[in-house]
Amino acid sequence: MPLLADVAVPVPLSQAFTYEVPAALAGEVRPGARVLCEFHRRKLLGVVLAVSERSAAIDPSKIKPLAALVDARPALPAELLAFLQELAAYYFAPIGEVLRLALPALEREQVRALKAQGELDGVLDLGRAKQVGGRKVAYASATDVVEEPGTLRGQAAAVLALLRANGEQPVARIEERFGNARSALKKLAERNLVALDEREPPRDPFFRRAEERDVPPELNAAQAEAAARIDAALAALSAPPGGGEHPAIAQQEPRPAGQEPRPAGQEPRPSAFLLFGVTGSGKTEVYLRAIKSCLDRGRGALVMVPEIALTPQLVARFRARFGDELAVLHSGLSDADRHAMWASLHVGKVRVAIGARSALFAPVPDLGLILVDEEHDGSFKQEEGVRYHARDMALLRAHRAGAVCVLGSATPSIESVALVRRGKLAELRLPDRAHREASLPEVSLVDLRRFRAGPSGDPLISLPLHRALEKTLAAKEQAILFLNRRGFAPSVVCGSCGTLTTCDACSVALTYHRGRRRDARPPSPGGAPAPAAPLDERPEGGRLRCHYCDYAGPLPDRCGACGARNLLLEGLGTERLEATIAGSFPEARVARLDRDVAGKDRSQAILARMREGKIDILVGTQMVTKGHDLPNVTLVGVVNADAALGLPDFRAAERGFQLLVQVAGRAGRRDRPGRVLIQTRNPEHPAIAFAAAHDVPGFLEREIRDREEVGYPPATRLALLRIDAVDESVGRGAAAKLAAHARTCPEGVARRVEVLGPSAAPIARLRGRYRFRVLLRARDRGPLRGTLAALAGLIRDGLDRNARVIIDVDPVAML
Ligand code: ADP
Ligand code: ZN
Repeated sequence: MPLLADVAVPVPLSQAFTYEVPAALAGEVRPGARVLCEFHRRKLLGVVLAVSERSAAIDPSKIKPLAALVDARPALPAELLAFLQELAAYYFAPIGEVLRLALPALEREQVRALKAQGELDGVLDLGRAKQVGGRKVAYASATDVVEEPGTLRGQAAAVLALLRANGEQPVARIEERFGNARSALKKLAERNLVALDEREPPRDPFFRRAEERDVPPELNAAQAEAAARIDAALAALSAPPGGGEHPAIAQQEPRPAGQEPRPAGQEPRPSAFLLFGVTGSGKTEVYLRAIKSCLDRGRGALVMVPEIALTPQLVARFRARFGDELAVLHSGLSDADRHAMWASLHVGKVRVAIGARSALFAPVPDLGLILVDEEHDGSFKQEEGVRYHARDMALLRAHRAGAVCVLGSATPSIESVALVRRGKLAELRLPDRAHREASLPEVSLVDLRRFRAGPSGDPLISLPLHRALEKTLAAKEQAILFLNRRGFAPSVVCGSCGTLTTCDACSVALTYHRGRRRDARPPSPGGAPAPAAPLDERPEGGRLRCHYCDYAGPLPDRCGACGARNLLLEGLGTERLEATIAGSFPEARVARLDRDVAGKDRSQAILARMREGKIDILVGTQMVTKGHDLPNVTLVGVVNADAALGLPDFRAAERGFQLLVQVAGRAGRRDRPGRVLIQTRNPEHPAIAFAAAHDVPGFLEREIRDREEVGYPPATRLALLRIDAVDESVGRGAAAKLAAHARTCPEGVARRVEVLGPSAAPIARLRGRYRFRVLLRARDRGPLRGTLAALAGLIRDGLDRNARVIIDVDPVAML
């Protein structure tokens, strides 16, 4: 019987393809390794999923041999490979695309080797695989040879002196200092005084900025209890397979879930936890202890955080504790650095990885623990390509790997709370702030229907908020103002006919951005600028921007509908808030943090200035709500709490609530008491009322009940079919076909799956494409999967070439 390999290739198909393993490669081709294989007369880079000796299910003469083996050592360890296959099946995503999420870049060495074998002749498609390495750098060092005295002069003498004093140097660095470095080095090398050497530069991307090691604080009782329970779960894991062997090799055999030995009659030990701790309760310290205990047991750990650029402080705390044991994965890494991180995990040199969503696929050796910080955060859901939810998949990966999983939050997601109720997660609580003197801030609601505008004249800066800011400044403390809208004015409206200026490509309002201007002050400080500035008061250089596509254009001088020169800038965005606050508090240092100012390092720089006390009032979007620990912030103002609550999304209340509690949690984290002002026109809205009362369990209780009543997750399971097309009728037609097909398949007929739609999406047009959707809802996952499988078949067989269909399992974004 031939030796056959199932290979996933990077094409949008869900199945794998069968190839024969040539005799020369037998024993070398292993699952998880990349291979070159011919596919429709092109050579593709595929990944071996399985190898077995069996008779082929298809005509043996049609089976081609593998062209070449690329990875001598499988790029994807068995545990990760199995997990990726399961993820692909769960989301109905093409296996090739899922594997790509986890595959490292190709090393140039590997490419060279293939070239030498002649494999890269003719047609070749290395896919979108990136290549790294192979960049040689020249180094110079002084030899032991001693020159005749007085025979060296000028730069040659100086270069030699430098090398003797400082040891080996990259040639490039010598060239920076000496204009004739090249000829000097040549001369020195000819006389054997200097040795030149070419090799790859060393990489140490983890520890560019050494953090001082910290001293772990003594845990309080709640922290100690949480840490002990996680430790017990880690202790219950079986020892790493292979004992003292090299961890990366030992990892090849994952433990199937549920096979840990368990004494008879005993409950299974929980291995997944929800760490529910109020803001500032010291969850991070619990994570650090859990990792320590995991490492002590010879296993690796993975930490996932929502946005790594916004959490430099958190990363610094991990570095301070684990130093070189930590690989930090983030989007700012160069391909080479990312590969270096990947490789050090892959070979087992580094055993802890921290990163955002995509860190889920890190090849952590002998995985024993996955931590998901701020597990409620929406950024864990990937909204492009493979639409996976990193939190849900963290639970799955940990379970399959026989690892412990800890989800942490001050505002747990409804889904996680439901898992606690169903006994799938064990709850750990940290009810108090960790600092002895710190207490939760006092929250007051400002009913915008009753309070007038303060001295700024803007109705969204009420008198109570103005006074609170004055008091904070007088006490030399800091304030954060949170507003959920970027830009200067969220809408531009004609004062004559009322027409809203919208994007040509999207059915959304355009936002006016004034742009980066340092003199961002209103024309008459102290005066009362009208809430909607007339056109001629606008500064130069402003642009209209669409927040959904990349459109940016000038502000027209007249209304597109009626032609009146009467366009008004309406509403308040963070840019305008910053300008208004700066105008009202001329002595205060005001800064803004939102996506418009936060380039790669800018957000870190702004947060650093805030921590150093160089900013008095920080204005910003969600970015200011993320887990920052800023001891001198005593006032948090929520400028418009209603902005997030009205969205047509069943999670709007949950998300609004989380935002409010998180931003309020930035206040009063040390000995000085904090205050939070929430401005709203809906003080009775449950999200606002419960947030004001710090009553997280109360909100969760009520929200779960509401979801049960209206039949939304976690009471039910959802899948959203997203259909879009340039031509409206094509999109509508495809959506109708899908809905009809779903209704007529057995699960639909039996009403085990409810089919809602087709309907136009809330944002009916985006980037020039009309959007429709069909929502599938079911009590149980099984029937939903059955329907999706039938629909996936229909989509694959070509529904309509001009319509694009995306299956979104467990959708998060509903717009
Ligand atoms: P969370 O992540 O729950 O919001 P943090 O981990 O940021 O909270 O902790 C809040 C603050 O309390 C930090 O400054 C941290 O150093 C401090 N802290 C945590 N645990 C302790 C402890 N056991 N004793 C003293 N301070 C602590
Ligand atoms: Zn647009």
